[in-house]
Amino acid sequence: MFDLILRQCALPDGRGGIDIGIRDGRIVAVEAGLAAAAGEVIDVAGQLVTPPFVDAHFHMDATLSYGLPRVNQSGTLLEGIALWGELKPLLTQDALVERALAYCDWAVAKGLLAIRSHVDVCDPRLLAVEALLHVKEKVRPYLDLQLVAFPQDGVLRAPGALDNLKRALAMGVDVVGGIPHFERTMADGAESVRILCELAAERGLPVDMHCDESDDPLSRHIETLAFHTRRLGLQGRVAGSHLTSMHSMDNYYVSKLLPLIAEAGVAAIANPLINITLQGRHDTYPRRRGMTRVPELLAAGVPVAFGHDCVMDPWYSLGSGDMLEVAAMGLHVAQMTSQDGMRACFAAVTDTPARILGLEGYGIAPGCRADLVVLQAGDPIEALRLRATRLLVLRAGRVIARTPPAIATLDLPGRPGSVDFRQAAGRGH
Ligand SMILES: [Zn+2]
Repeated sequence: MFDLILRQCALPDGRGGIDIGIRDGRIVAVEAGLAAAAGEVIDVAGQLVTPPFVDAHFHMDATLSYGLPRVNQSGTLLEGIALWGELKPLLTQDALVERALAYCDWAVAKGLLAIRSHVDVCDPRLLAVEALLHVKEKVRPYLDLQLVAFPQDGVLRAPGALDNLKRALAMGVDVVGGIPHFERTMADGAESVRILCELAAERGLPVDMHCDESDDPLSRHIETLAFHTRRLGLQGRVAGSHLTSMHSMDNYYVSKLLPLIAEAGVAAIANPLINITLQGRHDTYPRRRGMTRVPELLAAGVPVAFGHDCVMDPWYSLGSGDMLEVAAMGLHVAQMTSQDGMRACFAAVTDTPARILGLEGYGIAPGCRADLVVLQAGDPIEALRLRATRLLVLRAGRVIARTPPAIATLDLPGRPGSVDFRQAAGRGH
């Protein structure tokens, strides 16, 4: 006896006609023609059922603050950082919690059930840390929130930042962050990477640094991050976020760098929506795209995830928590339009970030958590093409969000009364 069976599921790996049996919040059976009784049966009629979307890189302390205290006029990264500096003293814990919870509601509706959020630790009050630790507990029943201690103003450049970061870790923040390219000099940047990796090694924590988020081809902190990862035995626990300078690096240097990153077991996290809007700002034409070298990293064996990074904050005035939008932008910017390329982009917002975050029980197999999203699409590529509607979102076998299918109700002479957008889109030429 199951609590719930989802019948006729299409899975991201290409299997079709699969039934998923769920008991006590876990997946118990994944097979065609599952012959068993259940408290509830939902026939998904060949739609794609995937594990939930995962955002590997976000800033939940800044989200939904767009326009506070003013709008970013230049639209640049540096004005965004300055603007965030103006906003920080005005933040209150209640407002932070309220905005973060509102964003988590958006995320759930979009089937996004796991988020790694950086939290700025440069404010000695650590208001944002307290607020997001509170939010993490509050959303735990429906969303996995992982926090990174992020010294936005530079762990060496900002007075007291290292102590604040250590306090944040002691309070329960999960991951050590950093921002080496924002330190005063290249040497300070490299030193910050050493200090932070040693801190993570001492405490048995993962590392996720904003790394080389610029168009400067000589910003090579990823090399230092790979070096210390290997030296300290941190393989598999370290991610480099952004890595946009790699876009502008010399090809010979990159041919040496990629194997070093792979050897160190360092993962890469690109943020397509933000990279394409914030990088290349000092260019005339041709204007660089700025996103890191995603297909080349993948070919070298480096796991690559895509993050949303920002939604309606000092750096980005758009966004809705839709990881299909993130993946679609990623595949356009990286020109990953082959079938394999598009599937890799879907994995970059599902399986790959789940591995980077170390999520327990993620996937569609017996024993996994019954966290699932039913999409109005037949396969991952169609999901990307349509930014498919999340028909159902399940957490531990319980439906926690639902969106009606996109349907055109024409009701015109000679036209069918109702057209399923997905079927109509796939019909004929
Ligand atoms: Zn970021």
